Amino acid sequence: MIRDIVKYGTPVLRAKGAAIGEIDDTIRALAADMIETMRDADGVGLAAQQVGERLQLAVLDVSHAEERPSAMWIKGEPVELRAHMPMVLINPVLELGDEREIGVEGCLSFPEITGDIDRAARVKARARTLEGEIEFEATGLLARALQHEADHLNGILFIDRMSSAAKASLAGKLKRLQRK
Ligand code: ZN
Repeated sequence: MIRDIVKYGTPVLRAKGAAIGEIDDTIRALAADMIETMRDADGVGLAAQQVGERLQLAVLDVSHAEERPSAMWIKGEPVELRAHMPMVLINPVLELGDEREIGVEGCLSFPEITGDIDRAARVKARARTLEGEIEFEATGLLARALQHEADHLNGILFIDRMSSAAKASLAGKLKRLQRK
């Protein structure tokens, strides 16, 4: 089922997600709905807060963004990205590498707004999945999307990470979005 994506200005986007204990049918249904919603909106990631749920759950699929490649390693070995997409991450924990990279980002909760965001170029992620657990390293768009989604799960939005000049130039658009 495709769910409504909440937009900037809705309080739930500022809520920290609760850790998920038992992975029951409700969580499975939510994950399936979020994947469907993300695909329908042509996004590469979606966090539970964006469909109104205060939970540590995010879905990702960067396999179709050929112009913005990603790489992924498990136990130090490169793995086929497509085999792990879409990805359901529950209670994810990220460890950020030191190297930084600036790249453009958008967000399904901020229609028509994009901005350059400084992120770690490489991340290590550990999370539960619907099947068990996963631990991997990522670069490229996957590393960026992981940081963007992990921020959502903590109530942090990509505009919080924009330079003050970039944010100031978007002030009018953000106000209009918030008023809706
Ligand atoms: Zn977002």
